Amino acid sequence: MRLPFSLAVVLLGPVSLVAQAVPHATVLHAARMLDAAAGKTISPGEVLVEGNRIREAGAHVARPAGAEVIDLGDATLMPGLIDAHTHLFLHVGNEAGQTVDESVPQRTLIAADAAKADLMAGFTAERDMGSEGAGCADVAVRNAINSGLIPGPRMRVSCNAVDITGGHEDNSGKNPEQHLMSNADRADTADDLIRVMREQHKQGADFTKIYETGPDRLRDRVFNTPFQYTQSDLAAAVAEAKRTGSRVAVHATGEPGTGYAVAAGVVSVDHADNLSPTTMKLMKERGIFAVPTFTIGQYFADHAETPASSARRHETEAFHAAEFKKQLAAGVPFAVGSDVGPFPHGTQAHEMVLMHQYGMSAADVLRADVINGAKLLDWENEIGQLRAGFLADIVAVPGNPLEDIGVVERVSFVMKDGTVVRR
Ligand SMILES: [Zn+2]
Repeated sequence: MRLPFSLAVVLLGPVSLVAQAVPHATVLHAARMLDAAAGKTISPGEVLVEGNRIREAGAHVARPAGAEVIDLGDATLMPGLIDAHTHLFLHVGNEAGQTVDESVPQRTLIAADAAKADLMAGFTAERDMGSEGAGCADVAVRNAINSGLIPGPRMRVSCNAVDITGGHEDNSGKNPEQHLMSNADRADTADDLIRVMREQHKQGADFTKIYETGPDRLRDRVFNTPFQYTQSDLAAAVAEAKRTGSRVAVHATGEPGTGYAVAAGVVSVDHADNLSPTTMKLMKERGIFAVPTFTIGQYFADHAETPASSARRHETEAFHAAEFKKQLAAGVPFAVGSDVGPFPHGTQAHEMVLMHQYGMSAADVLRADVINGAKLLDWENEIGQLRAGFLADIVAVPGNPLEDIGVVERVSFVMKDGTVVRR
């Protein structure tokens, strides 16, 4: 349809043309701003955002004509929080049950709601560690977020995790006709791993999650878990990931499984309990991140069905906390991941409180979250710092997180990609 020129101007308006030429500018002002790399705050803190990028950050920034100024008062501006271990496709309740009783479409809608809850809590980027039987539905959630269809963090997704027959996530029965692995994709050999990885890559996975160890067992302070893949299996997986510019992350605790994974060159060891000195040394040398996921353990201990089970779980947590201290002393690099899903989405900033409680300084916890998290998600030049040129993923917390890390659980302002999503 052709419109008279004057009518077209009225309908389309000249404003949209102007808006394209000069991106919308916002100046955020607060009492402080966190310099996570340096582990200090500067005061006051200001960030000039143009479009979806940070143009300038410091104590005083330029105020272009027409810029919107948002004064956040006695708060600290900091980079958007990063959770390096989430499960959008899990919610509170029987984990094995929900992955069987709820359809993938139903689970996908619930996952969209989880993504929104995480974003509103200040998590502007996440690595989702396996869709737990929903296949590559996580790719659909990521794409819907990226296209602006639904609110949520920037996502790195993996489709299902990969597991061996009879492995960590093989919850199926023993009748061959029913022998489906509900929560993971099956691979028993290096060839299987490569086949599964290629299929997941084709579907849009950003990385691969592999269960390298089985269920943990702690008896009389002796920790045990079986390894699942050999070092050469994992090396084949890492080589396949490199072929496509992807990465491999493992669920791993104890030895020899974690040692195999680290020697094979995985990018992170998730849960990371009971590591040998050799493994810890190699993680330090190669910059392989440990992601402790304390919050899930604490939640299960606090919500156990019997006092005996609660006591056992609390003992497991205490053991892990003591192991964490050894890892800190050994110089293992850390990222922050909560394993949220089995406990409520949007509450996972508690992971930082626990890491601090178990011996890491607040400055190091914050650095692990935003700087190391960005590295682990392969976005270190885009997010995790309030610096000119970086994407405008910015949150504000009341007070000063270096003095009270707990304020990260009370995020009061969220901007993602230059858009205010919570104020
Ligand atoms: Zn997990």
